[in-house]
Amino acid sequence: AQLHIPAGNIHSFLFPPTRPRVPDHKPIFHSPQHSLTLTYGQLRSDTLRLASGLSALVRQLGARGHGDLGVAGSVTGPVVLMHLPNCLAYGTILLGALAAGCTVTLTNPVLTPTEVAHILQQTEPDVLFTQPGKGGEGVIQAAYELLARERGGQDKRLREGKVYTVDIAQYPFGPLQPAAAGNSWTQLLGSEHFVVPPMTSAEQQHRIAIILWSSGTTGKSKGVLLSHRALVAQPIVLHAGNPSFTQEERWVGFAPFFHIFGLMNVLLLAPYLGALVLVMPKFDLPTFLRLVSTHKVTNLHIVPPIAVALAKSPLVDEEWCDLSSARTATCGGAPCGADIIREVQKRTGIVVTMGYGLSETGSVTSTPFATWDKVAPHLGASGQPLPGMEVKVIDDAGRALAPGQVGEILCRAPFTMSGYVNNAEATAGALDAERFVHTGDLGYLDEDNWLFIVDRLKEVIKYKGFQVSPAELDAIIGGLPSVADVGAASIYSDEQATELPLAYVVPRLPALQSLLAQGAPAGSDHRLRALAEEVRKTVEEKCAHYKWLRGGIVFCKAVPRSASGKIVRRNLGEVRGVHVMCY
Ligand code: AMP
Repeated sequence: AQLHIPAGNIHSFLFPPTRPRVPDHKPIFHSPQHSLTLTYGQLRSDTLRLASGLSALVRQLGARGHGDLGVAGSVTGPVVLMHLPNCLAYGTILLGALAAGCTVTLTNPVLTPTEVAHILQQTEPDVLFTQPGKGGEGVIQAAYELLARERGGQDKRLREGKVYTVDIAQYPFGPLQPAAAGNSWTQLLGSEHFVVPPMTSAEQQHRIAIILWSSGTTGKSKGVLLSHRALVAQPIVLHAGNPSFTQEERWVGFAPFFHIFGLMNVLLLAPYLGALVLVMPKFDLPTFLRLVSTHKVTNLHIVPPIAVALAKSPLVDEEWCDLSSARTATCGGAPCGADIIREVQKRTGIVVTMGYGLSETGSVTSTPFATWDKVAPHLGASGQPLPGMEVKVIDDAGRALAPGQVGEILCRAPFTMSGYVNNAEATAGALDAERFVHTGDLGYLDEDNWLFIVDRLKEVIKYKGFQVSPAELDAIIGGLPSVADVGAASIYSDEQATELPLAYVVPRLPALQSLLAQGAPAGSDHRLRALAEEVRKTVEEKCAHYKWLRGGIVFCKAVPRSASGKIVRRNLGEVRGVHVMCY
């Protein structure tokens, strides 16, 4: 279907200066925990005040200007980094920075200093927003220190950005908030009459708005570049995919706003529609169910483990739990069994609509039109391609396959990524000459254009929707002197409906190697237990908690490698050894 994407900055699209899309008094973001509400009108004026202040600040800081447009893979303006959990101010900071013409990179606030250092190095942010204290400011500071140590000499030091702290229990855009430790917010708030600079269609296509973090098909986390055009297109496309969405929508916003799912489906779609989002910084099932019950939530945004909870948790039968207002649940990020979807529908009446997408495809590529009579005959599918999205399936030789035949899924749309930041090689691997994104997922389209995902070609583990890169775990564990070889993989937990990261480890100590070679039940050997402890602790220190080895460690004699020395991950599952659980 034809897709019309109006020119302009995402801010001008969501808040058109002449004809507002949504009445000013309409609540858009609400923090139930702090009883604070943000209306559409306030969101517009606060984002403009921030845009005004930020524009002045980045000029003062001498940040990069908008250089040449159209240089693939490079960022051509000031960069703002947001290292925050979901909070009331999230949308204001993000949209304010975008209105000011900044590129905004969004990071998971549970990342460790090592992980943040990589992102700082890749993006060199001019301004950073994070929480006060150890977990926010502390992590950013520690990351800068790590980089300084790595780089040595003063002249090679990375220019440090200016850090602003956000207390997520407050909304720091009030008339005059007390100055937060270090930098004062008041300095950042200018005039609400700020005029967002116009943006032609060509600029919109090339100007990078957002950088998200994904490991792509393999290796370290890479910055996925999404243009203003990608951001403007998404709400249009998502609304076309869910035409029943109106201003009456009420959602719980727990899907992380730094991830493509929460960003596109919740944070940006809400002001576009005029929907209300109940902002939730951290998921817990009882609070989630209570919010749905008391606020009469209309659509849920979930990942497969939450679908399992809706199907099985005894909490759903509690008297206070009333899910009758919810018609649908948008589900994605990982596969979800048809039985679970059927159980949820039977138990709660909620139609789980499985969508498929990637950070690289700029969010959802396919979604079902959400009524049970449409969904039920196609259980197991992940929807049909959205307007403007071309999906094709290819074989190893790159030939397009017929319906029903399994191959790699390729996607092309005006809203897919522009490339990876500073990584021409990975960009060339992910985007072909015709600008199709190679997803690294295996699947097929049926005769009626329903998309089925059957497996993953790429080296990515998904723990509850979060990406874990096996290559990253290999590098961290393999760096230990007591480890001779390692190959990371995952095992699937039916109970939790998720993959769990797991490492196959060959110990360096000859005594342990011969113990394993004898096939002796070595699980109780104290040296093996000590090594398991060492591996667990190292992963915990260097990696965010969703990457931890919840699947345990298999100590083995050897890791299967090809002639060229590459790990043959497909064969790891057949490796026998001593399985030690870490948790
Ligand atoms: P992310 O960029 O973090 O959203 O990760 C995208 C990856 O998640 C995809 O390439 C798939 O491997 C996986 N994924 C997303 N949606 C689905 C789905 N409906 N079924 C199976 N896997 C999915």
